[in-house]
Amino acid sequence: MLRIASLALALTLAACSTGQTPEAAETEPAQRLTVFTGGTIYTGNPDLPTVDAVVVGEDGRIVGTAPPLSEDWDEAEIDLVDLKGAFMYPGFTDAHAHLMGIGQRELNLTLEGTASIAELVTRIGAELEGMEPGVLLYGRGWIETGWPEGRMPSAADLDAVSPDNPVILSRADGHAMVVNTAALTAAGITDETENPDGGAIERDADGHATGMMIDNAQRLLSSLWTEPDAAAKALALETGAKVYVSRGWTGVHNMSVGPDEAPIMLELAGEGKMPLRLWNAFDATEEGMALAAAQDYEAPTITNHAIKLYMDGALGSRGAQLIKPYSDRPDTSGLSLITDEDLADFMKRADEAGIQVAVHAIGDLANQRLLDIYEAGGYPPEKRWRIEHTQILAPTDIARVGALGLIASMQPSHAIGDLHFAPSRLGMDRLAGAYAWKTLIDDGAVVAGGSDAPVEVGSPLIEFYAAVARKDLKGFEGEGWHPEQKLTREQALALFTSAAAYAAFQEDDLGTIEAGKLADFTVFDIDLMTVPEAEILDAKTVMTVVGGKIVYDSSTAEGQ
Ligand SMILES: [Zn+2]
Repeated sequence: MLRIASLALALTLAACSTGQTPEAAETEPAQRLTVFTGGTIYTGNPDLPTVDAVVVGEDGRIVGTAPPLSEDWDEAEIDLVDLKGAFMYPGFTDAHAHLMGIGQRELNLTLEGTASIAELVTRIGAELEGMEPGVLLYGRGWIETGWPEGRMPSAADLDAVSPDNPVILSRADGHAMVVNTAALTAAGITDETENPDGGAIERDADGHATGMMIDNAQRLLSSLWTEPDAAAKALALETGAKVYVSRGWTGVHNMSVGPDEAPIMLELAGEGKMPLRLWNAFDATEEGMALAAAQDYEAPTITNHAIKLYMDGALGSRGAQLIKPYSDRPDTSGLSLITDEDLADFMKRADEAGIQVAVHAIGDLANQRLLDIYEAGGYPPEKRWRIEHTQILAPTDIARVGALGLIASMQPSHAIGDLHFAPSRLGMDRLAGAYAWKTLIDDGAVVAGGSDAPVEVGSPLIEFYAAVARKDLKGFEGEGWHPEQKLTREQALALFTSAAAYAAFQEDDLGTIEAGKLADFTVFDIDLMTVPEAEILDAKTVMTVVGGKIVYDSSTAEGQ
């Protein structure tokens, strides 16, 4: 009884010191409590940055935090979770990822880590052995950064090993693919085929398609696909979620979701196969708009209230829409994937339906057009509409993001991957407004952090490291990479916790460890707030907790 009394006292103290009323702890009916203690617990709350224990109720919410506390808990009275010296944080949310793609990457041929065109060709050759002629080979995840050949792969490269099987290989960013001649032929693409709106069939000096298909031109290959069925989609989502909780993510802002995925996710959640908290932004089709407006297929862990639009493509494949031409390709300024009129119309309809809007904008012109159209629409900051990527901004546009109340949803890993080619694509001057997360924060914008997996690995540690170090994974910084944009550890933590929560209207429930909020925690074996930056990448996930439930535990996980 002494121990319970001291627990109640500790909770009351904690409630007072966090500005919460103590009644909750005193009048709550008796419920079984779980206490997380025995490590360093960062709350994300600047008024009380660390606590000794977090007490969680059966409803998955935090009853209270307890500093200072060194009680000898009686396990008959509570469930004790001993952190064994590890470091606990508010749950890390990936504010921009594609869960289906993350799962598919695990299940399909992944070309991640391919180090040259020669290796790409060799891997494709090996993959084709034993495959029937004519069957499509699909792979994803290559990126030409650092390849010794210094160029994009081509149809001719793939034809050498695959004259008969169509081959489609998506670049890691999903904004370009290389295909072989058999795929071009099967899709009916000839030298005469015109570029679709928002897409480019790359051609050589003689006008022949090279095999590189940029942005909307990828759709010309769609007749070669068979759409995965519901069971395959369920497996991909479940697989993606499993990988994600093992990495320490407690939630995902899931982007460009097909409306048909919503019932699948709900079913998985009902079966206990969807451990992640999901905030879904649907494709801006009629069906997607209707689903988000009605908030169909929601669950306590699933929010369906947003749509995703695209302004432009990506920087690597030169689809990002720039104000001035690419520095390394003066004949192009990138691609627009939506007209001003259509964007204004989508915004108006979404506003009327109360839908939250997330818009992909990478190039400085794409961002500027978005800011202009949004501003002209007179939308208030309470909408919390989001710019996904917010990657390259004209310096005069940076302060507009915060001033208009738009949320910058950014991916630190893009900056440390792109640092190898962005200077040549953009030239040194435009780098001043590229990946400028610190200036955005200083100018009053909320910056939420994500990975864009499967474009990137999808690791909270890589993202955290990239935000504070702004160097690649080997410690390379590069010339003109604006080290003044590095974030403090506290700012970096906020990107994936409190800012991500705000960007989803979930700050009352998530983002910090405080009484009353949901018990979503990420536990690593390293102190992210103090270790030298290179050591951040060595951390291991110890435990992932969603709604008070341990959804990943390294001590019992197999094969992790
Ligand atoms: Zn994305």
